[in-house]
Amino acid sequence: MSKIIEVNKLMKVFGKNEVLKDISESVDKGQVICVIGPSGSGKSTFLRCLNLLEVPTSGNVLFEGKDLTSLNEKDLNQLREKMGMVFQGFNLFPNMNVIENIKLAPIKVKNMSDAEADKIASNLLEKVGLADKAFQYPESLSGGQKQRVAIARALAMDPEVLLFDEPTSALDPEMVGEVLKVMKTLASDGMTMVVVTHEMGFAREVADQIWFMDQGYIQEKGRPEDVFDHPTSERAQDFLSKIL
Ligand code: ADP
Ligand code: MG
Repeated sequence: MSKIIEVNKLMKVFGKNEVLKDISESVDKGQVICVIGPSGSGKSTFLRCLNLLEVPTSGNVLFEGKDLTSLNEKDLNQLREKMGMVFQGFNLFPNMNVIENIKLAPIKVKNMSDAEADKIASNLLEKVGLADKAFQYPESLSGGQKQRVAIARALAMDPEVLLFDEPTSALDPEMVGEVLKVMKTLASDGMTMVVVTHEMGFAREVADQIWFMDQGYIQEKGRPEDVFDHPTSERAQDFLSKIL
């Protein structure tokens, strides 16, 4: 197996708040990692450090063997294109319709022709089940539809990895399933994914590994059946007893 992301002695401090204390982990190509843990434990910070949206205080982050913390802005941006990110709040451009949202980065960043971007965007809309919404504006979509557009937009850059930060946490319960379904399809297509989530059913079914984060460390990691059914650390036991 080849490592696609590697994190060595990652630390992140905000003022006096040591959010990430010492994290060394790696993600293999094709792996699905679900990161779980209490609110405020640093899950978002960790995810943002993976593409250097957040600059580590110390330690390094390697993507395909290249140390992101040592790159200049241009090289960093080039590698970032290979890491798509999907946020809790969708972050679609409100002044553009759905297909324009998806085409924007391929055209602007990859200099793709409009026709080519159009083809890719149409295929992706098909894939996320929204072919009929191409010319609608985000405000006219449900939360679940917006999040599926956001996933299509991330995929339009043909990323090597997708990072998800609580992609279903802002959704009404009846819309969670349609987004998780798209994510499951991506996982079974072999996409490498790091997913911060509270959806334990999804994590159990889809993740190759669960990373339980608390107090600045990954306290426990392993296969879903091990972490969920036989957590060894007291912190994980406590957390899981409250949510499962
Ligand atoms: P989680 O995603 O697990 O809820 P976060 O990574 O969002 O946790 O936050 C972890 C801690 O880091 C919190 O105490 C939060 O207040 C702090 N934090 C996150 N981002 C910043 C920031 N940009 N500036 C200062 N503190 C931050
Ligand atoms: Mg968070």
